[in-house]
Amino acid sequence: MDGLVMTFGGGGLDRASGIRMDAPRMGALLTGGKAQILPMWRGKPLIADEGRNRLGLVPHGHPVLAEMRGAPVFLGFLPDSGAPVFAADMTGWEPTGVDAAATAAFFDPSEQHHPALPMDHRFAELRGVMARLTPVEAEIAATARGILTWHETHGHCARCGAGTEPEAAGWQRRCTACGAHHFPRTDPVVIMLITRGNEVLLGRSHGWPEGMYSCLAGFVEPGETIEAAVRREVEEETGVRVGAVRYLASQPWPFPASLMFGCAGEAETAEIRVDPNELESAQWVTREDMVAVMAGIHPGIRAPRQGAIAHYLLAMWLAGQTD
Ligand SMILES: [Zn+2]
Repeated sequence: MDGLVMTFGGGGLDRASGIRMDAPRMGALLTGGKAQILPMWRGKPLIADEGRNRLGLVPHGHPVLAEMRGAPVFLGFLPDSGAPVFAADMTGWEPTGVDAAATAAFFDPSEQHHPALPMDHRFAELRGVMARLTPVEAEIAATARGILTWHETHGHCARCGAGTEPEAAGWQRRCTACGAHHFPRTDPVVIMLITRGNEVLLGRSHGWPEGMYSCLAGFVEPGETIEAAVRREVEEETGVRVGAVRYLASQPWPFPASLMFGCAGEAETAEIRVDPNELESAQWVTREDMVAVMAGIHPGIRAPRQGAIAHYLLAMWLAGQTD
């Protein structure tokens, strides 16, 4: 069924983590003529081809890479051609006429065109194009966004505060003073399809696009299981008590560094008491209403974005595939 699409669900990229420490080999892969490099600008991948939205991969030495910050990060080998893929941070490039308000928004609709590239190439918000990328393109874009954002925010040692330098082809940083190793960070998040008979529990956060509702979600805390995090978050945010919980699927969500654990949980109580610090509102939605929401024809509720795991979990529920 068409609704059962989850972006970032894995594209078969061969990450070849065993060769990341081999600097001469990394250099040869980068300059050997087969390298495919994804330029990223402030978290936005380069997208080509207006009609189809494919990733804008460029060869080593392309003029657009002249303003690259640091060395490119090795992402792995493409599953079909075996070509090595890298990510390049173009954040230092200053395009003319940037809409500062748009680039700071929850969802940035603006796109930036680099003069060294054809007109159909532009840097675009990943959430807006993700559902149209192929699985391997989506994996490349998610990995590039996650790892480059980590470098951007981890220039100093969390232990002693001195500067850190990248190593292992961009997959580690080492402190220049105390020698501590730092590894890319992934934050576990639970996202849950909470049902009670024929109804599903949806909520919306402050500042979301008008009418948009989604599955409840929250960060897993240190020392906590996924199942306990599901029960705690739902009770904190809505007052609803949850019984049995089971895992369904996961999705990397590099906005900026989450790994979503999609779970199903059975509610034991129905009364909703929203915590206004956490949510703007929450409600039970019937299966019949949810069909209209997912079809985009419900008068009051907008569905979560296609490609996101919340959309996938809700589509699975409607298709009777979560039991
Ligand atoms: Zn240090």
